Amino acid sequence: MFRLVIKRYEYGKTTPQESNGELVQSDIVINEATVADMKDYLSQYEGQTMPFGNSEVNPNDYTTEDLVGSVVAHELTHATDKNSNTVQNPDSTSVEREKKPRENQSKHLEEIKKKKEDEK
Ligand SMILES: [Zn+2]
Repeated sequence: MFRLVIKRYEYGKTTPQESNGELVQSDIVINEATVADMKDYLSQYEGQTMPFGNSEVNPNDYTTEDLVGSVVAHELTHATDKNSNTVQNPDSTSVEREKKPRENQSKHLEEIKKKKEDEK
């Protein structure tokens, strides 16, 4: 039997730290190389998009820094929005916790795209 396993790459991760049920700190890791590798890989293919936030983005429309910035926006939302982390919203589903981070990530990318169009 042939079995192909594809590792699910994470662009970033936020780990909330709690003390007595309170959120006291969040550690954020941004995997810039993963973002850069994915952008470089998908850029080879005409019309290939990459899922970012709630959007499918064309990797050629953004720099790696633009995309990394959107991951920062996503992870910071996990760290600062009380509905978007497991410490402050322990009974939530992952879909509920991902809602606002994904919205903010997409908003970040839309604002960059609009700014680039305005500068043309
Ligand atoms: Zn997330």
